[in-house]
Amino acid sequence: MKTSKIKSFLTDLFFPKFCFNCGKEGYYLCPDCLSLIDVLEEQYCPICQKRVIDGKTCLGCRSKTRIDGVYSAVSYQNKLIKKLISRFKYRPFIKDLSKTLASLIITHFYLSNKLDFLITEKSILVPVPLAQKKLKLRGFNQSEEIARELSQSLKIPLVNNALIKIKNTQAQTELSKEQRKENIKGAFFCKDKEQVKDKKIFLIDDVFTTGATMEECAKVLKFAGAREVWAITVARE
Ligand SMILES: [Zn+2]
Ligand SMILES: [Zn+2]
Repeated sequence: MKTSKIKSFLTDLFFPKFCFNCGKEGYYLCPDCLSLIDVLEEQYCPICQKRVIDGKTCLGCRSKTRIDGVYSAVSYQNKLIKKLISRFKYRPFIKDLSKTLASLIITHFYLSNKLDFLITEKSILVPVPLAQKKLKLRGFNQSEEIARELSQSLKIPLVNNALIKIKNTQAQTELSKEQRKENIKGAFFCKDKEQVKDKKIFLIDDVFTTGATMEECAKVLKFAGAREVWAITVARE
């Protein structure tokens, strides 16, 4: 048995998993509960929220954003999704839920028939970074955990050291749409242009709300030479 297998065997033995939704043993989220989550088959414009083809920002909105388009796997209105994301992010967190979250994203691409669009030679995955202070506090970057799972399953390179967050910002959830833009302005920096130059970048985050954070990241990445910047999130508000 490999060391990692022994470790997981022992962990299961002494710290059994229970579904956080129904309590069934053996899973953090059991298949029955997972099946209650509707994965979206369609995409929406990041600016006007109209339904669009192929996740692309609609023609009328293209001049207002640097995001080429957005893919979100599920609606954040789903109660189970809210619970799932909060169990993943907030103490006591179940980090392993990153696998479930990544599987929802992969299912969304599969249902939309867009896996070929995602997996290309130019593709890289870039998680939305956390500021150092926040990272120390939480111990991990939730977006990076999801991106790592996606990278392993889809064989797309993960680039987690090119885009960094250089400003400690207020939590976006407490702010209005306009305040969010102001709050996040100048928060990111690309410290390694070579890694993003000419790439088709998929920015990874947990929830797409107003898109202010993604927009700021896309601005920095395009300035650094990225060819395309697409947003991928587990949920959309
Ligand atoms: Zn369950
Ligand atoms: Zn639009």
